[in-house]
Amino acid sequence: MCGIVGFTGQENALPILLKGLYSLEYRGYDSAGIAAFTQKGLEVVKTRGRIANLEEKIRETGGLEACCGIGHTRWATHGEPSDRNSHPHLGGKDGKSGEIAVVHNGIIENYLELRERLEAHGYVFQSDTDTETVAHLIDYLHTGKKEDLGMTVLKAVGMLRGSYALGVVSLDDPHEIVAARRANPLVIGLGEGENLIASDVTAIISRTRKYLILDDGEVAIVRPDSVKVMNEFGDTVEKEVQEVTWDLSAAEKGGYEHFMMKEIMEQPQAVANTLHPRIQDGHVVFEDQGLTDERLKKAQHIHIIGCGSALHAGMVGRSVIEELCRVRCQASVASEFRYENPIIEPDDICLVISQSGETADTLAAMRLAKAAGAYTVAIVNVVSSTIAREADGVLYLWAGPEIAVATTKAYSAQLGALYLFAIKLARVRGMLNADEEKTLCEALYKIPEQIGEMLQSKSQMQYIATRYANRSSIFFLGRGLDYAAAMEASLKLKEVSYIHSEAYAAGELKHGTISLIEEGTLVVALATQPALHEKTISNIREVVSRGAEVVLVTSADFDGDTSYCSHVVRLPALPHAFSPSLSIIPLQLLAYYIAVERSCDVDKPRNLAKSVTVE
Ligand code: GLU
Repeated sequence: MCGIVGFTGQENALPILLKGLYSLEYRGYDSAGIAAFTQKGLEVVKTRGRIANLEEKIRETGGLEACCGIGHTRWATHGEPSDRNSHPHLGGKDGKSGEIAVVHNGIIENYLELRERLEAHGYVFQSDTDTETVAHLIDYLHTGKKEDLGMTVLKAVGMLRGSYALGVVSLDDPHEIVAARRANPLVIGLGEGENLIASDVTAIISRTRKYLILDDGEVAIVRPDSVKVMNEFGDTVEKEVQEVTWDLSAAEKGGYEHFMMKEIMEQPQAVANTLHPRIQDGHVVFEDQGLTDERLKKAQHIHIIGCGSALHAGMVGRSVIEELCRVRCQASVASEFRYENPIIEPDDICLVISQSGETADTLAAMRLAKAAGAYTVAIVNVVSSTIAREADGVLYLWAGPEIAVATTKAYSAQLGALYLFAIKLARVRGMLNADEEKTLCEALYKIPEQIGEMLQSKSQMQYIATRYANRSSIFFLGRGLDYAAAMEASLKLKEVSYIHSEAYAAGELKHGTISLIEEGTLVVALATQPALHEKTISNIREVVSRGAEVVLVTSADFDGDTSYCSHVVRLPALPHAFSPSLSIIPLQLLAYYIAVERSCDVDKPRNLAKSVTVE
């Protein structure tokens, strides 16, 4: 959460910083600010609200001319979103006229202890943030010393506990930005006579495609014509230059009103990118050489770790893996897994799912599993992200940049990657013969096309959305795989429309929650698994008897009575194990259209941020 950008070069930094901030706004959007070296010195403009509010405020103050500066878009962790808690924060005894400005992404866990010590040295704090401590700490260590800012930052970060990506500027050298990172992402964009820092490459690609990835513990000194990276001992580190492979247009709306709709519509291509290169002659082929047959055979237990939608994809993966492979598999909430002393054996395989590859809880859970000896496989979208780099093996989604905060195409691609893994594992463990593998692979290959068919339910979903957008609560029911899909559908609705929603295992509702069903309550029921059709239908009957209106999502082969449902959506024929890939499509559309109907900020829902890099 929080987006950081910095620019040092020959041109006016202001439009470059603002453009960078706009592209990072998905990471946090409760306040924003910039600090830049103008003729007046180190000027800071910051405000509560969106980047547009910041732009307005800068315009009101007469604009800024500077060729070096840093910017920030915030997702508050410490201190309410307000002007004074917005970044950048100034370092200096009175906290106002400082010579040092800091932007930060992360949480400084020992900030209270540091704050007390700095207050004892006469520092007066202006905000409630943990970040201001860093600004004063750097000022304290730097003032009066003839030391480079980079060395001071190196010392300062050695005193911090927690996580950070930092951008620091000082009047010492108005062309220099010092960047540092531990556990939060930061890249250095390499331009011609100019360089940038940013939380992710979307903020630099309008200037350059070349970049370096800062690793944990490193500090970079960035000037227009040079970048020097040091490790925690102060030794210079040679970094490998990376190159962005996708096009700028992939991160733009391309005529759609919202990124969410664009990304929903991109799903056939995104899922094809994940699946097609890995299905060859009726076999699943992984590029990860470490995922050997021997390792796949030996595994006693498969752990799947994720948060939010990635967890829901993991729940689908768990069912399919257990069903196809008859091996124990568990899907765990990353933030619970990391603290519950999980039982991990050295032969276990741990699938770690994260769109951004930077999710703090997932990363920590993966490190734990790796330390316990499990073979970790990252299922991530963002190439070279921290989870991708630290895992033993990677299955990239190749779904293209996902900008809307509520995931759609990355979730669908995650399902694809998990199905591939399940088929491969089942085949290697002798649970599928070559023909069965081929049949499943052929069905899997067709999923992108079938997702395209499901997208044709658009106008039906838009119509249903207009009918139910005013509801205060919406329920989702399903059994087995449909329950996992219901969890994701319910989350999507909550995220973007702010309607209260619950997903229930259909048989569980009567154990309490059915008391909430009343005349006109909307229940979305998923019944795509033939073995469970009758059971789920009985549960649907129970809610209909209590006044619920039902939207039923069911499989092509369901031939039972549906006359008691208000709306029915059917999936094209496919192996039932893969139905979550299709059943989610109309429900993503439903969530989207309800949110639009309620005039919600679809791409940037309140209180959320896309890449959750704090605990
Ligand atoms: N802890 C900082 C703040 O609350 C940064 C938050 C973040 O990176 O999400 O301002």
